[in-house]
Amino acid sequence: MIPIIARKEIVMDIHVQPAGPDQRKPKPTDESQLGFGDLLTDHMFIMDFDEGRGWHNPRVVPYQALKMDPAAMGLHYGQEIFEGLKAYRLADGRISLFRPESNIARMNRSAARICMAQLDVPLVLEGMKQLILLDREWVPRSPGTSLYIRPTMIANEPHLGVRPSRSYVFYIIIGPVGAYYKEGLNPVKIYVEDVYIRAAVGGIGEAKTAGNYAASLLAAEKAKEKGFTQVLWLDAVERRYVEEVGTMNMFFVINDEVITAPLNGSILPGITRDSVITILRDWGVKVSERSLAIDEVTAAAESGSLKEAFGAGTAAVISPVGQITYKGTDYVVAGGKMGDLSRRLYDEIVGIQYGQKDDPYGWRYPLTEA
Ligand SMILES: *Cc1c(COP(=O)(O)O)cnc(C)c1O
Repeated sequence: MIPIIARKEIVMDIHVQPAGPDQRKPKPTDESQLGFGDLLTDHMFIMDFDEGRGWHNPRVVPYQALKMDPAAMGLHYGQEIFEGLKAYRLADGRISLFRPESNIARMNRSAARICMAQLDVPLVLEGMKQLILLDREWVPRSPGTSLYIRPTMIANEPHLGVRPSRSYVFYIIIGPVGAYYKEGLNPVKIYVEDVYIRAAVGGIGEAKTAGNYAASLLAAEKAKEKGFTQVLWLDAVERRYVEEVGTMNMFFVINDEVITAPLNGSILPGITRDSVITILRDWGVKVSERSLAIDEVTAAAESGSLKEAFGAGTAAVISPVGQITYKGTDYVVAGGKMGDLSRRLYDEIVGIQYGQKDDPYGWRYPLTEA
C-alpha cells in the first residue's frame, strides 16, 4: 500500500491564474432560489500526479473543462473518488470550513481502497483555501446557505487493461448551495429496500467512489416512483440489518438508546455520523454502534419504543424520518414530526458550523482572521 504522506508544511507553490472578465459568470441574485449542485464558481483548483514524479503543478485556474484521453483508465475501470464538505459564512464575517482534515483523510482512505495515489493533506487544504478565498464573493450570506466543496480524483492514464493507473488528476470545484430545508425540517418517507443492495462487506462501500452511487440509482429511482424520498439499505448477505440511507448514515432512537450501524466495511464513515456520536456521548446519551435488524426497528415502531429516526450527512446535517415502509407496511415514526433529539442535534451542529455556538471540539476551520 502507498504510505500516507503526513507533512505540516507545503513545499510547492500554488500558481494562481485569475479568470478574465469574460470568464466570469453572473452570481445568483436571489439566494432563496439556490438549489444544490448546478451553480459552480469562476475558478477551480487542479493538480496532476504521475508515478515517479508525485503530485505536481498545483494551480488555481478559471473553471474549465478537463482534457482527458478517451482511454483514461478512470472512465473504464472506475478509479474515481470524491468528497463533499461545505464552507460557511460565520456571524463575524469570516469564512470557515467544518472538519476539512477529516474529509481529506477519508479521501486518502478511499484512494488506498481502490489503489489510487495518496494526497498530501496540507497541500490540498492550502489549495482549497486559496480557491475559496479567490471566489469568496460566491459564498452566500443568507441563513442556512453555504458553499459546497467537491474535491475529486480521477485516474487519467490512457491504457486499456485492468490495473491501477499510473497518473491521476485531482481537482476541487465549488458552488453556492441553498438552505436544505426551505419550509422547516420536514420528515422524509423512506423505503426499506429488500431486493437491491448498495455494498457488501469486503467490497468498496466504505470508499466515497463513483461505483457505489451507480449501484444505488435503480433502487432509488424505483422508490421515487412509489413516492419515497430515500432508500434505506439492508445488509447484502441477509437483507436484515439496517445500513444507511442515500448519502446519509442512519440513526434510530429506541427507548433511551441511539443506535447506528457499525463501520464494518459496507458503510461510508460519515463525518456527520462521527459528530453526532461525539455530541450525544458528551450529552450523556447512550450511543451504540451495533447491528440492528429491520425487524427490531419495526417491532419498536409497533410497540411505541421507536422514538425517532434520522439520517446524518453533510448536505442536510440531520434529516428526520417520519415514515418507514417495509414489505408493504407503513410505520410512522415520531408521529411524522421531527423528534426532540434530532432537533437538538441539528441546532448544535449547525450552531457550531455557523459560529453561533461554542466549538469545544475544534471543528471549525476559519480561513481568514477576524
Ligand atoms: C458522504 C456520504 C455519507 C455522509 O458523510 P458525511 O461525511 O457526513 O457527509 C454517508 N453515506 C454515504 C453513502 C455517503 O456518500
